[in-house]
Amino acid sequence: MKEEHVSDLATRIVHHAYVPPAGFEAPQPGVFKASTVIFPNVAAMRSREWKDKSGYTYGLHGTPTTFILEERLCTLEGGLQCVLVPSGLAAIANVSLALLAPGDEVLIPDNAYGPGKDLAKGELARFGITHGFYDPLDPADLAARISPATRLVWLEAPGSVSMEFPDLCELVRICRARGVTTALDNTWGAGLAFAPFDLAGDGGLGVDISVQALTKYPSGGGDVLMGSAITRDPALHMKIKLTHMRLGLGVGANDAEAVLRALPSIGLRYRAHDQAARHLARWLQAQPAVAQVLHPALEGAPGHTHWQALCGGRGDAQDGAPGLAAGLFSVVIDARHSQQQVDAFCDALRLFKLGYSWGGPMSLVVPYDIASMRSRAAPHLKPGTVVRFSIGLEAVQDLQQDLQQALERAFAPG
Ligand SMILES: *Cc1c(COP(=O)(O)O)cnc(C)c1O
Repeated sequence: MKEEHVSDLATRIVHHAYVPPAGFEAPQPGVFKASTVIFPNVAAMRSREWKDKSGYTYGLHGTPTTFILEERLCTLEGGLQCVLVPSGLAAIANVSLALLAPGDEVLIPDNAYGPGKDLAKGELARFGITHGFYDPLDPADLAARISPATRLVWLEAPGSVSMEFPDLCELVRICRARGVTTALDNTWGAGLAFAPFDLAGDGGLGVDISVQALTKYPSGGGDVLMGSAITRDPALHMKIKLTHMRLGLGVGANDAEAVLRALPSIGLRYRAHDQAARHLARWLQAQPAVAQVLHPALEGAPGHTHWQALCGGRGDAQDGAPGLAAGLFSVVIDARHSQQQVDAFCDALRLFKLGYSWGGPMSLVVPYDIASMRSRAAPHLKPGTVVRFSIGLEAVQDLQQDLQQALERAFAPG
C-alpha cells in the first residue's frame, strides 16, 4: 500500500515504515539499548553526526528505537522534528530553557498545567526570566500583555483541571503578528482531537512547537513517563535539540518501546475514553450535588464554541457524539456541600482510584482547590469544589453505578 493513498492516521501509524534487521521483518520494531555505540574507526568517530540523525554516536543522542518513536509521533501530530524527554514536564522545561534567556518574558495561560507554572516561578525566575499569566478565554488580554521582552507564549487547549477551551487560532494569530514563538501543551488533544500545526485546516496557521506528555494517551498504560517536543522548523528544532543534549535528557529504550507498542491503538482508545467520558459528564449534569460540569464538548461549557470550531468535525459522528475530546472532565460540587463531604465522595468511589495523571485504563479522581491555582478569579466557574475525573476503559455502566453510590453516600440529604 502506498503511503500517500492512506489518509487515515491509524493506518499510517500501523504501517509506518522502518528498516528491520535483514530477514527479520515483524509488526513491531525492536528494542535497541545502548549508552555506548561502537565506531569502526577513529575517522568514523570524528565524522559521525548525531544532530541530523544521519548516524548513531551515543545512547543519549538516540537509538533506532527512539528515532522510530520520534518519527511516528511526528506522523501523529503533523510535525517534522521531535525530541523525546523523560516526562511531559521535562518537555515544557526543555522548550522553555532552549528559547528563553535572562531579560526575556514567557506568557502562560492562567489555567495551564500547574507544575509548568511552578517551573516559571521557580527555575526560570532564578535565571532572570520573567513570566506573566494571561486569561486564555480573552485574546485581548494576551495581546495587551505581549511586550518587547516576550519571547514565548504557552498555549493549552483546554486548560488543566478547569477545562476552558480557548480560541487557539486567534491566540496563535496574535502571537504571529507580534513575532512571538508559540508552544502548545497538546497533551489533551494528543494529535487526534485537532491538528496543532494546521489549526485552520488549510495549512496556513499552526503553533511553532507542540509538546505532549506521552505519559498520558500515547503510553496509555499509566506506567510510563515520557514527553515530546515537536516542530516543523529545523532551526527551532535545533535550539531545542541542543538544550536537550546539554541537559542530558535521554529516554530509556524500554520505555520508548512501551509507547511504540501502545501507539497503534491510540485512536481507538481515545475514542473509547471520549465516549464514556461524555456519557458520564452528561449524566453528572443531572445530579443535584453537581453545580457545573466542565467538559469542552458539552454545550454551555467554558469555551465550548471554540472546541466545536476546532474539534467538532473530527472523529465519526455515527454514535451521536460528533467531534473528538479526551476522556477528561471536571465537575463543580455545589458550594452548599462542605469540603469534608467532597472528600467523602472521592473516598467512597471504588472503581475510580485517587491518583494523579490520566490517559490509562483505570479511572482516576482528584479533588482540586481551584482558587489556589489561579492568579485571578474565574467568574465562569460556579462556586463550589472542583473534582476532576479521568475516565478509563472500564464498562461505562459500572463507572456510572460507582459515581451514583458515592454521590448517594456523600451528599444524601439528612
Ligand atoms: C501530565 C501533564 C503534563 C506533565 O506530564 P508528566 O509526564 O507527568 O511530567 C504536562 N501537561 C499536561 C497538560 C499534563 O496533563
